[in-house]
Amino acid sequence: MEDTIKEIKSRVDIVNLINEYVPLTKGGKNYKGLCPFHKENTPSFMVSPELQIFKCFGCDKGGDSIRFVQEIEGLEFRQALEFLAGKAGVALKTSAFTRSPDEMKAKKILELNSLAAEYFQYILKNHKFGKKALAYLKDRDIKDAAIDIYKIGYAPNSWDGLIRFLLKRGYDISLIAASGLVVPKDNNKGFYDRFRGRLIIPLRNERGEVVGFSGRSLGASEPKYLNSPETLVFKKERFLYNLDLARSEIKKKKEAILVEGYFDAITPFQEGFKNVVASLGTSLTSGQLSLLKRFTDTLIIFYDTDTAGIEASKRALNLAQSAGMDVKVGILSDAFKDPDEAVRKDKMYFGKALESAASVYDFYFEYAKKRHNVKDALEKKKAADFLLPIISEITHTVHKAHYIKELADLLDVSEETIVQSLKKYGTNFGAGRSYSLEKKVSSPKISSQEYILALILSSPKELAQKTLYKLSSDDFTQEIANAVFVKLKDYLLSKERFLLRNFCLKLSPHENELVEKLHLMELPVLGFLEEDEAYLEKEIKKIFDIINKETLRRKMREVSYLLKQAEKRSDKRLVSELQEEFLRLSKKVTK
Ligand SMILES: [Zn+2]
Repeated sequence: MEDTIKEIKSRVDIVNLINEYVPLTKGGKNYKGLCPFHKENTPSFMVSPELQIFKCFGCDKGGDSIRFVQEIEGLEFRQALEFLAGKAGVALKTSAFTRSPDEMKAKKILELNSLAAEYFQYILKNHKFGKKALAYLKDRDIKDAAIDIYKIGYAPNSWDGLIRFLLKRGYDISLIAASGLVVPKDNNKGFYDRFRGRLIIPLRNERGEVVGFSGRSLGASEPKYLNSPETLVFKKERFLYNLDLARSEIKKKKEAILVEGYFDAITPFQEGFKNVVASLGTSLTSGQLSLLKRFTDTLIIFYDTDTAGIEASKRALNLAQSAGMDVKVGILSDAFKDPDEAVRKDKMYFGKALESAASVYDFYFEYAKKRHNVKDALEKKKAADFLLPIISEITHTVHKAHYIKELADLLDVSEETIVQSLKKYGTNFGAGRSYSLEKKVSSPKISSQEYILALILSSPKELAQKTLYKLSSDDFTQEIANAVFVKLKDYLLSKERFLLRNFCLKLSPHENELVEKLHLMELPVLGFLEEDEAYLEKEIKKIFDIINKETLRRKMREVSYLLKQAEKRSDKRLVSELQEEFLRLSKKVTK
């Protein structure tokens, strides 16, 4: 097993692997890019080809290629390994794994769910109980073919219709309970059907397996939509409705349309807009996006036209952009409340709205225009307050200039006014990320002791050795940094060639973690002056002085403590010795 893992890891280069999800650029010895796991505008996501690891300094996620696949694809270790094995062309012996009890159970739940879907559909199509639901579907223009494809059904208004059906088919009650299709009774004696008197939409995952259900109330009963709870097979955070049917079209069209509800997916799909997925509810998750990113990088958001929908679009597009996707936003006229209605009432119009989906910033301008009447002075200010921070975040200068002009026109003020107002949002006009040593050292994430180790790790051997000679174990008060320092000195002074990978083998897990972090850290020096030794040396000297003074101050505190003790004991000789020592140290500090 260990060997298989090693072989897979050696055949898949982590830089190539991650590049498929996040564009990486080389900076010094490492690669960097925008983190796919959290929102950021300046890259803090680093990849080391040397150590075959990644780390984000923003959200702290990190690890090897298997870990990366687990995170981005939302897979278990075993599944991630299979995924990478596929890429590497390494055959995994099935005997290398045995299915865990949970995996066996998950398989059983899928089977049970699929049977339950059949049961619900049978009632809808063949039983008198289903008539009302069938009429409702007709009313929504859902065609028979779509009812079949989507396995839509009806749950009769019965407390135990489904339970009895499943028990009769030989499933035991604990498995039925694990599927979420039933709810325990208050007295804990037995269960009753979760879905009663509701239209049933089976929720299928990207492989077409039924992982859960959603029941829509047809009368006044609340809630309007009732969903399965999370189970072994249903994780809401990673579920997109209709992805199984839409995936091939998404790949073909190289874009996906994202909508809110099932019917916003079903109606367009049956009318030929087949690359639609629904996020079910308005809060899109990063898990859903990483699922989608397996199929495309371009997203057209088509949420409801009400205020909640517009707010949701805003959130969704922020999230999708930070996941590195190209995002456009579909804007529907107020005459339609959602894509479902737009397609039903005017298919042509929907097609056009799709084609003219706006860029994110155009969407925000539309949004501001809709909400604020800019003829009114107060409303003008509100529109500006809304749009200025958005424009300030645009990094591309030409792009930014375009929207500065747009906003100036909208508010009927000069472009200079806009540029001035943008300043308070801390916009830097074209300037790159500024590195400040002081900031770096005082930042809680990295101490001066760690920072000098990072510099040594990046230095050519001679400079590294020279620096190590000048430092002593006393300079490192942090336990792990101290251990790394001692081992590094030992290793660097004895070995002909410094190989980071080999050095890491000598470290404990905690020490290893620190070294990986330091190796991946983007050093200010290597940001613009690659391997510029003189610069590196200067930086080392600067930080060495800081450390040296820290050590001196520590020693002064010790001496002053001893001095007090000696004075208490009236040990005159020791007192004068210590006083001298204190003076010597304080001179050194102020030098
Ligand atoms: Zn991150």
